[in-house]
Amino acid sequence: MAEIVRNFIDGQWTESLSGETFERRNPADTDEMVGVVTKSAKADVDGAMRAARQAFRAWRLFPAPKRGEILFRAGELLAKRKQELGELETREMGKVLPEGLGDVQEAIDTAYYMAGEGRRLSGETIPSELPDKDCKSLRVPLGVCALITPWNFPIAIPAWKLMPALVSGNTVVFKPSSYTSVAASKLVEILEEAGLPKGVLNLIHGRGEDIGEYLATHPETDGVSFTGSTAVGEKLAAKCLGLGKKVSCEMGGKNAIIIMDDAKLDLAVEGAVWGGFGTAGQRCTATSRVVVHRDVYDRFLRLFSGAASRLRLGNGLLEGTDVGPVINPVQMEKVLNYIEIGRKEGARLLIGGKAYREGACARGYFIEPTIFGEVEPEMRIAQEEIFGPVVAVLKAGDLNEAIKIVNGTRYGLVSAIYTQDVNRSAIAERELDTGIVYINASTIGAEIQLPFGGTKKSGLGQKEAGGRGGALDMFTKWKVVYRDYSGKLQKAQIDR
Ligand code: NAD
Repeated sequence: MAEIVRNFIDGQWTESLSGETFERRNPADTDEMVGVVTKSAKADVDGAMRAARQAFRAWRLFPAPKRGEILFRAGELLAKRKQELGELETREMGKVLPEGLGDVQEAIDTAYYMAGEGRRLSGETIPSELPDKDCKSLRVPLGVCALITPWNFPIAIPAWKLMPALVSGNTVVFKPSSYTSVAASKLVEILEEAGLPKGVLNLIHGRGEDIGEYLATHPETDGVSFTGSTAVGEKLAAKCLGLGKKVSCEMGGKNAIIIMDDAKLDLAVEGAVWGGFGTAGQRCTATSRVVVHRDVYDRFLRLFSGAASRLRLGNGLLEGTDVGPVINPVQMEKVLNYIEIGRKEGARLLIGGKAYREGACARGYFIEPTIFGEVEPEMRIAQEEIFGPVVAVLKAGDLNEAIKIVNGTRYGLVSAIYTQDVNRSAIAERELDTGIVYINASTIGAEIQLPFGGTKKSGLGQKEAGGRGGALDMFTKWKVVYRDYSGKLQKAQIDR
């Protein structure tokens, strides 16, 4: 049954002032309507901003441990509804059910982790150079934050932003991708049920061009946290920084696995299959390139192509499905176009290469897992983010060449190396210019208690998720307080 999805503004679920709606259909079977979503107008954004600004006055003074308790309750509610939410994600976005459940689990973990931060939002006390004076630094919230998220992690990425923003004392206007409005609204429903006061969290729906930019550049917006493509993120960041807003952008990737001649090849093949074709390649962390030592290149290609050609495509709710559809016809066309580009560039198509329309899959946006061999580093399929089930395999003579190839794109999100040699792994760890490096694991598998984000065109501003250098640094600013209780004028840094 199709869900009716509304705005959530100042504690009320309301229809948009535009009076318009848009549909969400299952990308695995477009006959299935998943939701009908209200299409927010700019006036709805204004209303949401007013509510968030008003609510900020009390929320910033609400004790942080109590804010954390609300998040903890949200974590419990998410856990209770995990199956239902995982299934909804599969229907709305297409990822297979175990991945949908994993996405919800990430939100649960984030809720519990950030709940704890409510009791840890610590600054420092530092000795003063003068007697009878103390000095401290403390974290204070930014104010009203605009959160803009993509469709590929419909609940996890919103949770990555919402939980730290809220526990830090900010109020929020959240605009999820219009391709996953239904799942996003469930997360908001849960946070409401967990006890958030009205106006603290507001939800609007629609396309980025229509309301996303308006929201981010709104005069009432203090901080903007965006995850999405590099093309959109960079332009948005330039505008928002020019307006004096704090900005963080997590963007695209062209992630790679290096496979050395001493690697456990079976393990590396498994990692490449999971990294390349999990979520139909629609992860910012997807393995888009594999750089293989020439001595194991042919064997790897044989094993990799064999394993990938055994993957079963279909509706992610059906047991045994390995790979779901891509999100929409535009994405499908883009991926098929890249396959054509790869052919024209002279790469060798080993498996896949076309849309898959067998049986019920004819009603969805399915693309066969596709592998190109004989790819050269400068080819477009080795340089540009494809965001679909397409993997480019390149050859390298040694570790240095492999690292040079991996670092030779404009992106820097994730890299990985398979080797049994501790010295090689140490060199790779030091030299790979990506925000995340995996040793003997695929490019997928970030944990929420560590910062997440990339270098170069993959990330801008503070990182996401937890730990030192993580999301709390985005959603708070530092205030320094000096207190002089000497009762006389004392001068610091003045020669006496
Ligand atoms: P996208 O850039 O098209 O959209 C992302 C979000 O921005 C959506 O909510 C969209 O409505 C909004 N948006 C679009 N144009 C806008 C504008 N002009 N102003 C303000 N908002 C606007 O990306 P997508 O297709 O939803 O997601 C796929 C991309 O996201 C890929 O490039 C992927 O690598 C990236 N991604 C990155 C990470 C990461 O953490 N680095 C995680 C997931 C996805």
